Amino acid sequence: MTDHRIPHVTLPATAHESALELPAIGQGTWYMGENLSPRRDEVRALQHGLELGLTLIDTAEMYADGGAEEVVGEALAGRRDQAFLVSKVYPWNAGRDSAIAACERSLKRLGTDHLDLYLLHWPGNIPLKETLEAFERLREQGKIRRFGVSNFDADELETLHALPDGNACAVNQVLYHLGSRGIEYALRPLMQRLGMPLMAYCPLAQAGKLRQDLFGHPVVREVADGLGITPAQLLLAWAIRPVAGRRNVIAIPKAVQPQHIEQNAGALTVELDDASLARLDETFPAPDHKEPLDII
Ligand code: NDP
Repeated sequence: MTDHRIPHVTLPATAHESALELPAIGQGTWYMGENLSPRRDEVRALQHGLELGLTLIDTAEMYADGGAEEVVGEALAGRRDQAFLVSKVYPWNAGRDSAIAACERSLKRLGTDHLDLYLLHWPGNIPLKETLEAFERLREQGKIRRFGVSNFDADELETLHALPDGNACAVNQVLYHLGSRGIEYALRPLMQRLGMPLMAYCPLAQAGKLRQDLFGHPVVREVADGLGITPAQLLLAWAIRPVAGRRNVIAIPKAVQPQHIEQNAGALTVELDDASLARLDETFPAPDHKEPLDII
């Protein structure tokens, strides 16, 4: 059941699936399964997030060499039906047969018989047509419900969209946060036109200096303080803000610390007023020309 009090993004219907509403904030898992934090904390974090309504969980065969998928599998044991589960295939595993085998390995680690969404992690050398055929086979076999892509810029997405079944691509997952707005020039408007939701990765700028600069920025602090929220909540509420009256972005912050999970879920109910948005625009302007796709 969708909780209509929280903002959601609609995945359009496909030839095989009905339209589906997803909460606009989900959970990432990169760096889980690498012993950077105790495994039980990672498992609990994902379960806590689920309980707070962050039901989309994003993982990949790449993360911890499958270790993150195992953490997710443990978190979802006995509650698989509560999650919308997304995983990703390496570009070099996205061939006619290799994609089937990669997906089966992911399913085994995740302890489930299907993914809700399977993404091509980034564009590679295997022809897209072949990857689409493999995704369609996986769908027919019931192993995935939908497919999508990640790290596709506007030209790549247009090429994909023009292929047979390419218009069934459910999402494109790309880097997007207040300090990296390049996609707003071409990619985001294109996706808006195609009615394709965007999944925003690194919505909190992950780590390092850029993140410190953003979180500590006087304008970010001023706007966050004015709204009584944290800088992280401001960044998340900003990433999922509706544009031209439509909400089209699902942010997928990764968090292990319980207070982070709680803040991230709390960001779902933050309303950014026009004055706050304008203040952020002044300091972090939208692009006025095409920029290369930001990738981590
Ligand atoms: P994020 O921008 O989500 O940042 C994660 C960091 O933010 C962690 O250190 C986390 O700490 C911290 N954090 C989380 N919530 C808060 C909060 N409320 N306040 C302060 N700090 C907070 O970076 P990611 O790189 O993890 O991106 C998110 C997800 O996107 C990934 O986990 C992955 O699933 C996906 N991704 C996809 C890519 C692709 O190519 N398709 C590339 C990169 C990411 P802690 O864990 O200690 O709580």
